[in-house]
Amino acid sequence: MKKQDEAILLFFFHRRNIMIKYCEICGKKFNSNSYSRIYCFECSGDSSRLDNTSRKHQKTILRRSMKLQAVKLLGGKCSICGYNRCIDALEFHHKDHSVKEFKLGSGNTMSWKEYKAEALKCILVCSNCHKEIHNKIGYIS
Ligand SMILES: [Zn+2]
Ligand SMILES: [Zn+2]
Ligand SMILES: [Zn+2]
Repeated sequence: MKKQDEAILLFFFHRRNIMIKYCEICGKKFNSNSYSRIYCFECSGDSSRLDNTSRKHQKTILRRSMKLQAVKLLGGKCSICGYNRCIDALEFHHKDHSVKEFKLGSGNTMSWKEYKAEALKCILVCSNCHKEIHNKIGYIS
């Protein structure tokens, strides 16, 4: 076998384990050799070398990516006053007042599907308007 052919074979051998996937969150194409990876590296961070700090950091990246995408889905601005300057000041207000609101900034990591399903039941408001809403309708705890 010629050296060149060998190189080509080797190339295909390595390529075989690489899958082209579409990120469930942002829809971008990415390569992965892991069957379980459903989010791109940009959305979920690189999980290849994880100590505790980067694991924590990775969750933060994932949550932020999910929030960013959910915010886009809901129009990208406060549906009451139009505020859109800082994503951290944008919150999700559940349309069904009897449902306990899911806290997107904290708690356990949901899958994007769950997150998206929840977000779609909400309206996007800034934290000021959100407080005003709850001042009128009351808080559910
Ligand atoms: Zn992505
Ligand atoms: Zn507002
Ligand atoms: Zn609310």
